[in-house]
Amino acid sequence: MVKPATASAATNLYGMERPQLRALLGTYDAPPFHSGQLYRWLYARQRLDARDWTDLPKSLRQRLRGDVVADPGRIGSRIEARDGTVKYRVELAGGGTVEAVYMVQRERVTLCLSSQVGCALACDFCLTGRMGLTRHLGAGEIVGQAALIRDDRGLCDRPFNVVFMGMGEPLHNYDGVLGAVRLLTDEDGFGLSRRRLTLSTVGLVPRIERLSREPRRPRLAVSLNATTDELRSRLMPVNRRHPIPELLRTLREYARRTGDGFTFEYVLLHGVNDGDDDVRRLAGLARGLPVRINLIPFNPVPGHLDYVPPSRARTLEIRDRLVGLGLRCSIRWSRGADARAACGQLALLSGETAAAPARR
Ligand code: SAH
Repeated sequence: MVKPATASAATNLYGMERPQLRALLGTYDAPPFHSGQLYRWLYARQRLDARDWTDLPKSLRQRLRGDVVADPGRIGSRIEARDGTVKYRVELAGGGTVEAVYMVQRERVTLCLSSQVGCALACDFCLTGRMGLTRHLGAGEIVGQAALIRDDRGLCDRPFNVVFMGMGEPLHNYDGVLGAVRLLTDEDGFGLSRRRLTLSTVGLVPRIERLSREPRRPRLAVSLNATTDELRSRLMPVNRRHPIPELLRTLREYARRTGDGFTFEYVLLHGVNDGDDDVRRLAGLARGLPVRINLIPFNPVPGHLDYVPPSRARTLEIRDRLVGLGLRCSIRWSRGADARAACGQLALLSGETAAAPARR
């Protein structure tokens, strides 16, 4: 892995929380209360140059300047789609590249962040799944994407929504993602309400259980995508380990323990999971759960022609039928598809990186 020049020798502070900052300052014999000040500079005020940390003693600033960096990564490139969605390629502080997406809808800004370089889950319809997993991102590399885009878009103190729906399986990188959740929701960090954060998972059961015990949880979305174990195992290999009944049991318990509802994401694949029987079974699975269903018409994946989305009319019909059955249901129309920024389209392709995604 190639390290950027700036981070070659120096310790990278970006992503550290108070205990780590306190430990680091301890090595300079600096009093612990400086860690809170440093924390605010890094995440609330986004001042990453030690010379700007004016409430720290000057001598400490000078020594820090020599020894540490605060490196959130950098923007490699941006591609703007016609609907205003922007796909960013972000070069990570620890080496490697991921993609992150900026979306605006009626003044509401949502950032879609990546949690891993690649992904190990290998869902059949997802482009990222074809890359395999290279590595987990650290908390600083995850919030770094938000910090870089916030700067680039001039968002300043405007609150935004975050969805952990970029490259990777967020619950596979549990520590990195929960670290990012804490930085994003801390009052002296990014200061976002936890309700602005949504984590989407393939359904890693033990990690969902663990999440239910976290004091600061994001909202939960689960990629269901099929209503029988036979089909779901074909589309999502993780289902062989954690089949639908086990997943549902876990989600019921999650809702009971936390009082939170959750979302089922359901990628619509024409002729595969969009039949009347599928819709009936989906309603059956969702009934009685505090769940909202989010239908996602399949976004075509370059070089992979096995799947197509249903027609617009059929998509609306499925939604109406589910609503008619008393379920809460919405459609996630693709955004940024012409910049290849839509769901399932994030991957590093064609000269975008040294390593092309593996074709199966
Ligand atoms: N690994 C997590 C986070 C990725 S979120 C997860 O799977 O939930 C990406 C969402 O987009 C998931 O709901 C996934 O099922 C969906 N998706 C993946 N590929 C897609 C595609 N080509 N078209 C539409 N949705 C897709």
